[in-house]
Amino acid sequence: MDVIKDLDPELYGYMKNELLRQQTSLEMIPSENFTSEAVMQAVGSILTNKYSEGYPGKRYYGGNEFIDGIESLAISRAKSLFDVEHVNVQPYSGSPANMEVYLALCNAGDTIMGQSLTSGGHLTHGSPASATGKIFKSIQYCVREDGYINIDEARKLAIENRPKLIWIGSTAYPRMLPFKEFAVIAEETGAYLAADISHISGLVIGGVHESPAQYAHIITTTTHKTLRGPRGAMIMVTRRGLEKDPELPKKIDKSVFPGMQGGPHDHVTAGIATALLQASRPEFKEYAAQVVKNAKALAEALMKNGIRLATNGTDNHLILADLTPIAPGMGVFAQDALDTAGITMNKNTVPGEQSSPFYPSGLRMGTPALTTRGMGEPEMKQIAGLIGTVIRYVSARRLPDGKEERAEYLRSFRAEIRKSRELDDIRKQVVELARRFPLYPSLGT
Ligand SMILES: *Cc1c(COP(=O)(O)O)cnc(C)c1O
Repeated sequence: MDVIKDLDPELYGYMKNELLRQQTSLEMIPSENFTSEAVMQAVGSILTNKYSEGYPGKRYYGGNEFIDGIESLAISRAKSLFDVEHVNVQPYSGSPANMEVYLALCNAGDTIMGQSLTSGGHLTHGSPASATGKIFKSIQYCVREDGYINIDEARKLAIENRPKLIWIGSTAYPRMLPFKEFAVIAEETGAYLAADISHISGLVIGGVHESPAQYAHIITTTTHKTLRGPRGAMIMVTRRGLEKDPELPKKIDKSVFPGMQGGPHDHVTAGIATALLQASRPEFKEYAAQVVKNAKALAEALMKNGIRLATNGTDNHLILADLTPIAPGMGVFAQDALDTAGITMNKNTVPGEQSSPFYPSGLRMGTPALTTRGMGEPEMKQIAGLIGTVIRYVSARRLPDGKEERAEYLRSFRAEIRKSRELDDIRKQVVELARRFPLYPSLGT
């Protein structure tokens, strides 16, 4: 960052502090990861200079012979790793990728179905807050009281409403996704089935989560979560998808460009290519297996600490702690106090939420980033202890009822925890633990 340091000290200051924050905290947001230095080199390269609207061999501008090579490399690696027939690596990120799937298959006003946001689904699966919930008639299925996806409800809703497109995939679901069951529902109702494996694509490649390749027609994924690549996304068409609609690859490609996007981000495409190479190595299988082992160890230790977990555990990289038994809305206090202690995760709604989406009762956490640092089960036990201590520290807090009292109370709570000796002591233990697993040592600090 030397050039930035000289040119723009103000920006450099923020970047340096962010590096230090990443190095000295425990990153437990389950959608985050630490990408490799190879990926960062690709993303920080001269490839950002090029315009290459179109696809390999069919570009609008000249000078694309090497870009064609890069994009073809990313595509062929993705096809073989995910065992699919067609891949588009150009989507700018997960949300545009999903919109591109809608626009390839649906018209405005068509019926679509996805998992509701408060049940762990993604905004882009038809949430009223997202354009996808406004442009299309959105039907939402939920999880049951026990936290598992309500497959019977999804089937009933699909038969009643005949959606054109069904989504399976989540951002806050700690169990295996029921691809097979949703394939049956899609078959019964004639819908396209799109599996959004953004959170779990690294686990799928690593062989620790079932692949949707033989069940879904379309697969979308971000590339920056468990896959550990740069920020970006891919849309894939499976063999089953081709059988249902031989035009699918063409429809998807046209929907990405010129339908939604202009020039692809070739520097990101290069980063995706190198991340896919890394993900094809035996070490990545070990990584993916360790992510799940760590999540299970963390879940076990949290439950021993008296913390309730949605579905009583996890099958994947993610844990949803349900703090309702302490008090509804406890997720708000816990997230802020944990953040102050250097443990980063997010508040989240829980199955049967008794509070509200803005003041939820749960915490969503995951192990992909910690595992990239090299942490294992002993560290998960230690971290569960720290999380337990922080939750006990805030457990007497209660959200006031009135809107203004609530805002005022949270303001003073936040000021108080910044001065807390107890949290400062945990923060010191966090720094010490983080330092034992160095992150990007070549970048300094
Ligand atoms: C993260 C995520 C997305 C959106 O990705 P962005 O890159 O943030 O736009 C879409 N779907 C699921 C299931 C996700 O987890």
